[in-house]
Amino acid sequence: MTIDTMTRSERLRAQAEAHSAHNYKPLPVVIAEAEGSWVTDVEGRRYLDMLAAYSAINFGHRHPRLVEAARRQLDKVTLVSRAFDHEHFGPFCAELADLAGMEMVLPMNTGAEAVETAIKVARKWGYEVKGVPADQAVIVAFGGNFHGRTTTIISFSTDEDARGGFGPYTPGFRVVDYGDLDALAAVADELGDRLVAVLVEPVQGEAGVIVPPPGFLAGVRRLCSERGALMIADEIQSGLGRTGTTFACEHENVVPDAYLLGKALGGGIVPVSAMVSSRDILGVLQPGQHGSTFGGNPLACAVGREVIAMLQTGEYQQRSAELGARLHQGLAALPPTVVERVHGRGLWAGIEFTGLTGRQVCERLAARGLLAKDTHGNAIRLAPPLVITGEELDWALGQLRDALAG
Ligand SMILES: *Cc1c(COP(=O)(O)O)cnc(C)c1O
Repeated sequence: MTIDTMTRSERLRAQAEAHSAHNYKPLPVVIAEAEGSWVTDVEGRRYLDMLAAYSAINFGHRHPRLVEAARRQLDKVTLVSRAFDHEHFGPFCAELADLAGMEMVLPMNTGAEAVETAIKVARKWGYEVKGVPADQAVIVAFGGNFHGRTTTIISFSTDEDARGGFGPYTPGFRVVDYGDLDALAAVADELGDRLVAVLVEPVQGEAGVIVPPPGFLAGVRRLCSERGALMIADEIQSGLGRTGTTFACEHENVVPDAYLLGKALGGGIVPVSAMVSSRDILGVLQPGQHGSTFGGNPLACAVGREVIAMLQTGEYQQRSAELGARLHQGLAALPPTVVERVHGRGLWAGIEFTGLTGRQVCERLAARGLLAKDTHGNAIRLAPPLVITGEELDWALGQLRDALAG
């Protein structure tokens, strides 16, 4: 194909292929604009966004309230660094702590940074509060986890693509099977006082929207309390309305020692993440011991405050619960000859297929104007914006049914 017979999206994709690292394999869709649940590509084709940037777009694209908050702040001040305070910093931290029923917040930018923050804080808490001998702290994580891409975080990944070739790995982690409380107790017995924290996704997003067996989160909570270890809930993808509640831990009435938040916290506009916890725990940090140039910046806090205000109404959580029931009802009616299993909670689903790869299904869906993302091998994930309407959801389910038929 010569350059002049290529469409604009083909040219742009070829350019990306030639000049960007191949750390992703995007579907052949080049987006130019978006609003609410819909995106438009450079050729003017419209797609229903059923991925919502892995839940970073929980409130839809360019939600007017969020855009307005960002625009107002762009005209005032965007960055001061943490060398100075600004008018949104205190309110953002107080309001986020209140939303989570916690006391203190440490804002960062990406999810991985929130996880790194939690690892550092848990270790320091272990040494200074729990009395663990220097450099002996161990954090337990679970098989199939996804907590980000830094060298420390991938050290306890069980995904060979995420981990392989990036050693040497950071020590101080143990991994047990997700959902296996007996295995967790056995490792805790072995570690004794060296166990400082259990890091858990209340629902494993990247693994395929895997909901743990009933009682698992409550069991992790109990074990952590008994052993004097911190329960750290990574709600970066599961939190902020995605599962029908503000936090996915609420489904088991579990309150962790710390929440890790990100993705939707930035309203789809700026990267905003945070560790939210108690004074006893976040209080171990003293000036100079941790930080970030952009963490807690005015633009991030202004948008984050609007996100928190929107969540305080409960409207989005309720939409997720109600429309989530409709989604899962629709998915349950798909032909069992091609659909092996459906997982999920609220407006969030992982679907495993027989005889089709997740990629094949996503390509068929894209051709029908619906964007979704494959996860591992034969699975796809659906995570539409929480502003999606019932009619749009029904349309998406119809497209999925037709795509599977041929
Ligand atoms: C996306 C994600 C992260 C990492 O967030 P980034 O912003 O990509 O660094 C961490 N934990 C979970 C559960 C996630 O889904």
